[in-house]
Amino acid sequence: MENTITQESQYARSLIEASLDPLFTISPAGKITDMNNASVNIIGMSREKLIGTDFFDYFTEPQKAREVYQEVFAKEFVADSPLTLKHIEGKLTDVLFNGSIYKDTSGKVLGVVIVARDITDQKRIATELMEAKEAAELATQIAEEAKRKAEKATLIAEEATRIAEVAVQAKQQFLSNMSHEIRTPMNAIIGFTKVLLKTDLEEKQKEFLSAIKVSGETLTVLINDILDLAKVDAGKMTFEQIPFKMGTSISAMLHLFETKIQEKNLELIKIYDPNIPEVLIGDPVRLHQIILNLVSNAVKFTTDGNITVSIKLLNEDEQQVTIEFAVTDTGIGITQEKIETVFEVFQQASSGTSRLYGGTGLGLAIVKQLVEPQGGSINVKSKVGVGSTFSFVLNFQKTNEKAELDLGLVELDPEIKNIKVLVVEDIALNQLLMKTLLDDFGFEQDIASNGKIAIEMMQNNTYDIILMDLQMPVMNGFEATEYIRNTMNSKVPIIALTADVTTVDLAKCKAVGMNDYISKPVDDRLLYSKIIGYVKKPNLDDSKKDSENSYSQSTPFKYVDLSYLSRRTKSNPQLMMEMISLYLTQTPPLIIAMKQGLHDKDWNALQSAVHKMIPSFSIMGISKDFENIAKKVQEDTDNIVRHNNGMARLVLQLENVCTEACKELEEEFNAIKKANS
Ligand code: ADP
Repeated sequence: MENTITQESQYARSLIEASLDPLFTISPAGKITDMNNASVNIIGMSREKLIGTDFFDYFTEPQKAREVYQEVFAKEFVADSPLTLKHIEGKLTDVLFNGSIYKDTSGKVLGVVIVARDITDQKRIATELMEAKEAAELATQIAEEAKRKAEKATLIAEEATRIAEVAVQAKQQFLSNMSHEIRTPMNAIIGFTKVLLKTDLEEKQKEFLSAIKVSGETLTVLINDILDLAKVDAGKMTFEQIPFKMGTSISAMLHLFETKIQEKNLELIKIYDPNIPEVLIGDPVRLHQIILNLVSNAVKFTTDGNITVSIKLLNEDEQQVTIEFAVTDTGIGITQEKIETVFEVFQQASSGTSRLYGGTGLGLAIVKQLVEPQGGSINVKSKVGVGSTFSFVLNFQKTNEKAELDLGLVELDPEIKNIKVLVVEDIALNQLLMKTLLDDFGFEQDIASNGKIAIEMMQNNTYDIILMDLQMPVMNGFEATEYIRNTMNSKVPIIALTADVTTVDLAKCKAVGMNDYISKPVDDRLLYSKIIGYVKKPNLDDSKKDSENSYSQSTPFKYVDLSYLSRRTKSNPQLMMEMISLYLTQTPPLIIAMKQGLHDKDWNALQSAVHKMIPSFSIMGISKDFENIAKKVQEDTDNIVRHNNGMARLVLQLENVCTEACKELEEEFNAIKKANS
C-alpha cells in the first residue's frame, strides 16, 4: 500500500516536472504548497524557501493575482488570465494564469493547481509583429505619399512638356516663316546677280556684282545654318532612306563650287572609288549638306593649292558598304589647342577668323549633328600652314532598287527648243527670274501665280513640265499637285521649287505626287538638267504629244513596283494575281477605317488600321518614304500634341498613296490576266 502511494506521488511529481511552464499548488489560504522546477527558475528562489510563502507576493500586481485566485475558488477554474511574475532579481515574466481547484475523496477543497504559461516569446513576437505592421503601414503611407507626389510631378512634367512642345513648334514655325521671308528676296538678289553677270559688263561692274553675289550666298548659308541648328535642337532632324546614285549626286554638288574654286585659282581634285556600288540607300540631301559644309570651309580657308574630295570604299558585305569621305585642303590649318573645339557651336579656331574669313562657327557643329545620328563619326587632322583633312565614315545599305531619278548634269543644248514649262510661283521677282532662266534655255513658258490659276491654265494648254513653288496663297503647291494627279489624272512631271531643302518635307512632296525638287536659289545648270531629264526628248522634231508619251514611257512615276512580288512568286501569274487581289480587297476598308479613326479622334482605331496597311507596302513595292509616313502616323497616334498637328495631312497623304496604288494594281491585275488568258 505504502508502495502504491510512493509510486503515485512519483508519478504526480514527474507530471509536474514535465511542464516547462511554472506550476504551483496553493492552499486555500493562498500559501504555496508545492511547485515544479520551472517555477523555481522563474522566481529565483529555492523550493524550500518558496513553500509556505504567499503565492501573490511573486506577481507585479499581487492584488490582481489574489482576485484571480479567488475567482478560481468561486468558479472552480480560471483560464488564460494575464499576469506578470517577477524574479527576485527583477526580471519579469509574462504569464497566462490557468487554475483549477483540487479536492480530496470526500469532496473537500484542498487547494488550487496553477499553471502559469510563459508567454514572453509570444508577447515578443506579437510586439515585433505589431511593430512590423506599424512599420509596414508607415511605409505604405510614405509610398502612397510618394506616389501622390510622383503623380503630381508627372502631371507637372506633362504640362511642362506640352508647353515646351508648343513653344518648340512656335519657334520652328517662326523660324520657318522668317527664313522664307528672308530667303525669297535673297533668291531674287542672287538669281538676278547671276543673270546680270552673264551680260556684257565692265570690269568694275563685274567686280561689284560678284561682291553682291558672294554676300548674298553667305547670307543664305547663314540662314540655312540657323534653321538647321534650330531643327537639331528641336530633335526634328530626320533622315531619309532612299535609293540614290552617290557618284552622280556628289559630282553635281561639287559642280556648285567650280566657279568659286576657279575664282580663287585653286584646283579641285575628286577621287571616287570605282568599287562603290552605283545605287545605295541613304539620305542624299543630308550627305550633300555635310560635304557642302566641309568643301565650303576648305575653299574658304585655302588661298592657294588644291582641295581634294576623296570617297573611298572601306568595307563591303552582302547588306551594306562602309564609305569614308575626306575633304583635304592646303589651307591655313588649325592649331592643336583649337582642334578639339571646332565642332562645337559658335566655335572658331581663332578670334580673328570671323573678321578675316566670315562665318559663324555653326557649320561644323551641324556637320557633326548630321553625321553622328546616322551612326557615323567625324574626324579632323590639321597642321598649321600645311592644311586640314576633315573625314567622316558612314554606312549605306546596298540595294537592287533603281535610284530615284537622279540626273547627272547636262550641257545646255541650243538645239533643244520646243519644251513648254508652266511656272507656278507667286513672288513677282522669282517669276521674273524663272522667266529669264527659261528664256536663256530657249524654253517656252507660262506663269501662274498660284495653284488655282495653274490648274485653270492646264485646262487649255499642254505643258511638258511644271515648276511648282510650295508656299503660295489661294492654293499652295501641295494642294495643286494633289489636284493635278488625282482629279485631273495628269502625269505631267512636276518639280517642286523649294526655298528650304533642309527643312522641307521631301517625303511630303513625293506623297502628293511630285517627281523631284530643286532648291532655291536655283542653279541654272541643275534646273536645265532636271527639265531635260524629265522631258527627255529623244527626237527633237517630235510633236509635243509624242514627247509627253515618251516621258510617260521612260520615267513613269509609279506608286507600286511589282518586282519584289514577281521575285517572291517566281513570276507565277496566278500567285501574283492572288496577292494583288488580296491587297485590293483589304485596302479600301482599311482606308475607310483610318479616315473614320481620324474623324472620330479614335487614335487606337486609326493606329490599328495603319498598322495593318504597313506590311503590304514592301510587298507591293510602295516606296519606303510612304511606308515611313505610315509609320509616322502610327507613332504620332501616341502623341497628343501631334494629333492636331499634321495628322490629318499625313492621313490624307496615305489615303492618296493607297488609292493610287490600288488604281495601279487594278491595271496590273488586268494586264497579267490578259497576258495569261
Ligand atoms: P565657320 O566656318 O562658319 O566659322 P565652322 O563650324 O564651319 O564655322 O568652322 C569652325 C571653325 O573651324 C572655323 O571658324 C575655322 O576656324 C575652323 N575651320 C573649319 N574648317 C577649316 C579648314 N578647312 N581649315 C582651317 N580651319 C578650319
